[in-house]
Amino acid sequence: MYLICMKGYYNMDLTSPRTIRNIQEQFGFTFKKGLGQNFLTARNILEEIVDAAEIESGVIEVGPGFGVLTSELAQNSDKVVTIEIDERLIDVLDYTLAEYDNVKIINEDILKLDLKKVIDDEFNGEKVSIAANLPYYITTPIITKLLEEKLPIKNIVVMVQKEVAERMSAKPSTKDYGAITVLCQYYTEPSIVANVPAKVDSAVLKLKVLDKPSVEVKDEGVFFRVVKAAFSQRRKTLLNCLSANFAIPKDEISTLLESIGIAPSRRGETLSLEEFANIADTLLQKIK
Ligand code: SAM
Repeated sequence: MYLICMKGYYNMDLTSPRTIRNIQEQFGFTFKKGLGQNFLTARNILEEIVDAAEIESGVIEVGPGFGVLTSELAQNSDKVVTIEIDERLIDVLDYTLAEYDNVKIINEDILKLDLKKVIDDEFNGEKVSIAANLPYYITTPIITKLLEEKLPIKNIVVMVQKEVAERMSAKPSTKDYGAITVLCQYYTEPSIVANVPAKVDSAVLKLKVLDKPSVEVKDEGVFFRVVKAAFSQRRKTLLNCLSANFAIPKDEISTLLESIGIAPSRRGETLSLEEFANIADTLLQKIK
């Protein structure tokens, strides 16, 4: 009897719909759509995420659900810290991950958590990878937080909606290119590792965090203000957007843009990161 239990315990296949149903029944668990609870069942996608994360020793996961990706991460790293907002899942995770002694579960909202402290306390401040099947309703805030807090992160590998992955890896002069593209490509080198056809088409996005930002700027705050202004009204010219957002007369903006070889009639979506940097550095003299 003992052996049979042990076998079942060690062979728990969290990608199997039957196992998921059994756990749901055992814990009386019902999915909350509002928390983006869509659980992964494709084993090949789990492997793609783990491979792309290139875990050195530590990994942080956002939103473990029943722990399907967590267990894969636990088998491929020294330590996993996984952050789950839904307290109903903590007992489930204690059960599904019981065989791993290298997993720490934190019951918190990722957007409110002091991640710098978590990395300091749990990983001695060393570089970690981030891996997740992200809750789709807060994909952009999570990625923005991970990048803007300048944490010691090696790679961010996340399953997201396909259109979000395309936006983050877009090239200038395409419909997907926007402020979030510039943010991602300032801090990271993005690539789409796998496409996941489903009810909502998804993709595994890898953001390889750069040692230093992809372009050099004198003032990061001004750089991101320029980016935000340039995309504030997509149909308007750069001249109009910058003049309105920085409250500087049009003729001055026009002269400034022409002095660096950028036509004032261009639109934000056509600008490369280098051009945004150039505008921000030149504008800096006017606003400081
Ligand atoms: N990793 C699991 C999988 O692939 O099957 C579950 C992924 S599911 C798309 C997203 C998970 O994130 C859910 O478990 C959900 O409860 C959790 N979640 C939602 N909002 C969160 C937040 N603000 N902080 C932490 N976890 C969150």
